[in-house]
Amino acid sequence: MGSISSEIERLHALLPEGVDLVAVSKFHPAETVMEAYRAGQRIFGESRVQELLQKISLLPSDIRWHFIGHLQTNKVRQLIGHVSMIESVDSERLLELIDVESRRAGVITGVLMQVHVAREETKFGFSPEELIAFFSERKFESLTHTHIYGVMGMASNTGDEDRIRADFSRISEVARTIKEICPELRGFDTISMGMSGDWPLAIEEGSTLVRVGTAIFGPRNY
Ligand SMILES: *Cc1c(COP(=O)(O)O)cnc(C)c1O
Repeated sequence: MGSISSEIERLHALLPEGVDLVAVSKFHPAETVMEAYRAGQRIFGESRVQELLQKISLLPSDIRWHFIGHLQTNKVRQLIGHVSMIESVDSERLLELIDVESRRAGVITGVLMQVHVAREETKFGFSPEELIAFFSERKFESLTHTHIYGVMGMASNTGDEDRIRADFSRISEVARTIKEICPELRGFDTISMGMSGDWPLAIEEGSTLVRVGTAIFGPRNY
């Protein structure tokens, strides 16, 4: 007790104006989320659909839930209407499905496009080239119930600060390029990058949304 709230307060004090905090609560129980909520935190991130729906049923309704994990297409329908943002759109097919299901549910879903720049081969997301092509071809114009607010990405999992900084810089550059190509995109301003180990670097490279789990809640028991 106490350490979660003090970490939330510490982060809120450290984050510059214009940078929001997603508290990544995956694998932690609802009571733990509640401690962060009492400290003033309102945006939480989850990576599994069942776990998220379970927590929504137990926790205050003014929480804004961000889905940050790989979303299987057969789970989209369950999620739509319950999240304020899906940060991890990693394929055109998933985006189209989010749009179809949002239309069906009568909601507009906010999303971020996940861009893959890290060295690890297992990470999901569009390559910078693919994502820029998607916007150059104006494929977003067919969407009616999805609002694209920006991009999300992760740096390589390494201790090499120069590498991490270069990855974040690339993600920012992709977002900037898209805005240049498509000046008509409204509200395309979010750059979600930075986790417990690297968020200060991410902010230096232009992040507007950091996703912090371990530094707030401690280690996860998978
Ligand atoms: C788990 C996760 C985080 C939080 O990572 P920490 O190192 O615990 O801060 C951030 N972003 C994504 C996409 C995650 O899956």
